[in-house]
Amino acid sequence: MKVAVVKESAPGERRVALVPETVPRLIQAGLEVLIEEGAGDGAWFPDSAYLATGATIKKTADLYAAADVILTVTRPDEAVVGKLRAGQAVVGMLAPLIDPHFAEQLAERGVTAVSLDGLPRTLSRAQGMDALTSQANVAGYKAVLVAAETYGRFFPLLITAAGTARPAKLLVLGTGVAGLQAIGTARRLGAQVSGYDVRPASKGEVESLGATFVELTSAVSAAGEGGYARELTAEERDAQQAELAGHIGRHDVVITTAQVPGRRPPLLVTEDALAAMAPGSVIVDMGASALGGNVAGSIAGQTVVTPNGVTIVGAQNLPSTVPTASSNAYSRNISALLLHMVAASAPDDRALAIDTTDDIQAGVVITHGGEVVHPAVAKLLNSDSPRTEGGTVVDRAGH
Ligand code: NAD
Repeated sequence: MKVAVVKESAPGERRVALVPETVPRLIQAGLEVLIEEGAGDGAWFPDSAYLATGATIKKTADLYAAADVILTVTRPDEAVVGKLRAGQAVVGMLAPLIDPHFAEQLAERGVTAVSLDGLPRTLSRAQGMDALTSQANVAGYKAVLVAAETYGRFFPLLITAAGTARPAKLLVLGTGVAGLQAIGTARRLGAQVSGYDVRPASKGEVESLGATFVELTSAVSAAGEGGYARELTAEERDAQQAELAGHIGRHDVVITTAQVPGRRPPLLVTEDALAAMAPGSVIVDMGASALGGNVAGSIAGQTVVTPNGVTIVGAQNLPSTVPTASSNAYSRNISALLLHMVAASAPDDRALAIDTTDDIQAGVVITHGGEVVHPAVAKLLNSDSPRTEGGTVVDRAGH
């Protein structure tokens, strides 16, 4: 079985699906590893580093012709899809719940699509394959560095001959994987950190990192399925926004990470909350997307300054801005999944052994044998209200 690593096609994407360190593990398992020329350059892994581990470097045209399985980080573009043929497989973070028609296109070409973002999050044997977690960790870390760079003051308490600087007060809204990493990183930089989430379970996690948990008097438990949050009702949302505004106004830096699977990100920082912040305050909105973000007026990939002097950074693809660390982690995730999926094949004749009765495969296998086999993706394709218009609720595990 020939496993090919392509150069990422998304604009500005610097990550690579497989790093040289992981190649020997795949070769030992009986796989052949092909690398597209320059695939690792953006993450500082030159072709020579792959060659030294036993991989073969291929030109683009030869790579697609030879590959059985193609490994990517993000979704391949149209040009790449046009090069795929029946019987090939693509493994990556393909986001089929955001664009189910992409999955349909792969199914029509007879391509097997395997998407790491469908992995069940709470299954302990799948933890080593959890790319959403590994990339969210990188993003949470980088969000704090972006905030610190944008903020016009110090994060830590500094006592110098020229005076004393008080520590920055930093609030993290949404304390899942990225939020907890942001809390840890901000604490290491010396900020005074608070955290808030709608899942009651996160209180203990926030406090165990030495941060203060913000409790709202209007609090409701919004724990959903699979460890995720559910969407708030309109009344719950209004009460939350109004009460949060007071807390937000007392902080210098806010980092927002809130997501609800299958829905547009919840608005946590309203116009009123922004108006209550002091000039020089900074917000990094990790929820910023084409669908809108956690902060009123944030734009993904842009920095805007409000009339009262609050800088809002619409974060976009933060993991790609720490490309070596995020690729290292992703490479371990994708190779663990790949080895799991070939484990049932003969060592001297490796192949993907598709078995959707397996918990892990049921989450990640999106198309196979010319069909969209993932129930949640198939449901979206059959539904009249596509998800991108705020329709059907589905979770990432596919229920
Ligand atoms: P996510 O990216 O879906 O959302 C980020 C955070 O935003 C979540 O904590 C969510 O509760 C919060 N949020 C959503 N709506 C909100 C609102 N209106 N107000 C405030 N906060 C809001 O979450 P994630 O980081 O992917 O984590 C999802 C869950 O998966 C968590 O429970 C996490 O602990 C769990 N998880 C478990 C494992 C494991 O057991 N191996 C691994 C990874 C994640």
